[in-house]
Amino acid sequence: MIKPRILIVEDEADIRRFVRMALEKEGMSVFETATAEDARLNAGSRKPDLMIVDLGLPDGDGKMLIRDVRSWISAPIIVLSARDRETEKVEALDAGADDYLVKPFGVPELLARVRAQIRRASGHVKSEIECGPIRLDTKSARVTCDGLPVKLTSHEFRLLAYLMHHNGRVVSRTELVEHLYDQDFDRDSNTIEVFIGRLRKKIPGDVIQTVRGLGYR
Ligand code: CA
Repeated sequence: MIKPRILIVEDEADIRRFVRMALEKEGMSVFETATAEDARLNAGSRKPDLMIVDLGLPDGDGKMLIRDVRSWISAPIIVLSARDRETEKVEALDAGADDYLVKPFGVPELLARVRAQIRRASGHVKSEIECGPIRLDTKSARVTCDGLPVKLTSHEFRLLAYLMHHNGRVVSRTELVEHLYDQDFDRDSNTIEVFIGRLRKKIPGDVIQTVRGLGYR
C-alpha cells in the first residue's frame, strides 16, 4: 500500500502540527502550507491524494482556493473550519469540498473522515484491465482468459500486466527487464523470453506478438 499524501492548508501552526502528527501516526505522508497561494503551488507539484483546507486563510478565503483547485484536481477536499453556519458549509461544499468538519474537532473523527474519503477516491481507480479475452485484476492479482482462471507466477503476472498496460505499442526487452528486476539484479534479457514463452503456453491464442528486433506487443 502506497502512503496517502495529504496536503494541509491551515494558517494556525498549532492546528497544523496537531493534524500533521495525527495523520503521520496513521501512516500518511503530510505536506503543510499556511497560505492559499502556497496551497495552489503544492496542489500542483505534490499531487496530494487529499487536501484538508481551513477557510480563514491570510491571503484569501478557503472557498476560493477550493473552487480554483477543484477545476484541475480530483483529490477529495475536507474543510476544517471554526465557521459552523449552515450557509458556510453549503458554500464550501458547492465550491467543490467533499466534507466539512467544524473546529474544535476530535482527532478520531477527522481520521475516520480522511480514511473514508481516501477509500472512496481509490475506489474510482479501475483495478481491472481488459485486452481481448484476458482480464487482469491488479488488486487481487487474478487473471482470467475467456472467463477461465489462469495461474501465473508473480514475474509472469507483472510481465503480463505491463504488456496490458501498454497495449497496442511495442515494449522492448530492456524495458521489461527494467520493470521486472531491481537495479542490482543480474539483468539478463533472455529470461524475458523464457517468461514470454511460459505466458504463451498458459494463455491460448496469439495474444503476445514478437516484433522482430524490437520487442513484444
Ligand atoms: Ca485560519
